[in-house]
Amino acid sequence: MPKEYYNVLGVSENASQDEIKKAYRKKAKKYHPDSNSDQADPEKFKKINKAYQVLSDEEKRKKYDMFGKQGVDVSSGRGGQGFSDFEDLFNTFFGGGGRRRRRRRRGQNLKIEVSITLKEAFQGVEKTFEINRNKSCQECDGTGAKKGNTKTCGECNGRGRKEQVRRTVFGTQRTVAECGKCNGSGKVPEKKCKACNGKGVVNRSEKISFKIPRGIMNGQRLRLKGKGHEVKDGKPGDLYVFVKVEDHEELQRKKDNLFTTVKLGIGDAVLGAEVEVPTPDSTAKVTIPKGTQPGQVLRLKGKGMPDQRTGSRGDLFVKVDIDIPSDVGEDKEVFENYRRKPEKSKTFFETVKDLVS
Ligand SMILES: [Zn+2]
Ligand SMILES: [Zn+2]
Repeated sequence: MPKEYYNVLGVSENASQDEIKKAYRKKAKKYHPDSNSDQADPEKFKKINKAYQVLSDEEKRKKYDMFGKQGVDVSSGRGGQGFSDFEDLFNTFFGGGGRRRRRRRRGQNLKIEVSITLKEAFQGVEKTFEINRNKSCQECDGTGAKKGNTKTCGECNGRGRKEQVRRTVFGTQRTVAECGKCNGSGKVPEKKCKACNGKGVVNRSEKISFKIPRGIMNGQRLRLKGKGHEVKDGKPGDLYVFVKVEDHEELQRKKDNLFTTVKLGIGDAVLGAEVEVPTPDSTAKVTIPKGTQPGQVLRLKGKGMPDQRTGSRGDLFVKVDIDIPSDVGEDKEVFENYRRKPEKSKTFFETVKDLVS
């Protein structure tokens, strides 16, 4: 019956790829022979994988819907897609198939902080830092052994791994762990290297250059892979750069948009004007239309900060502030003309009367 594979995964015949994937993950985890669940069931696991292999492939799924299993003979497919392939599939989904996974030693991460200006955040910038980190010992080539001479580890007989047997309520459990003496390398120094005291690494100062991308936000973190402490028989840690973007005197930032306030003379507001406003890297001209009101906000499209990915720029918002002169001297007459005429505005009492009548 064509429906079987859908039943195995517990999805409907018109399930989306997303639903199929989700259902598969859930079931595969539950019945995986290596899982700790008491429902571990290799046979069922195989069936789930077969169903998923077909239904996750639109081409195969179509054939299956039309012709059933004969349409998609998975067991005799080219390259013999047997259990081990499914095992790989499972590993890509869940990151390692449990006890077979070998943990590697890793060096410690390092952390530095760097301050940049808004202009640098706008343009992107390259910085060079001097840091102290553990680096592979040049004297012994990172082996920790004098003249690089090593011998087979006696603890694990050079296998790098040791089997451990544990008794649990479910019976004896055998696990394979990395040998602690040789860190899994299977080799130990004949004599310790004096330069690094057998550690394989020495602390050295190093200049590191890195690029800070344009559009970076305050508080953002960059990861420089492998630039942390190096370690013997393992992978180096990472260097994390915490970026602080300093405040700008005139520009405030909110995501990719910038905000500033410009102070106009009363004549500029009344008659209109052209003024300069700050931008992250220089200035921009803004046309103030005549009759601009205090508190009005003008928007300069594309004059904000760049988006880190696309580079497209946000906007610059300019709020207008009007400088009212405290003394107009001879121009007093002029301003007299701009007084509100008393007869035109109603008194507060009159307004209320109009409202309630
Ligand atoms: Zn060993
Ligand atoms: Zn050394």
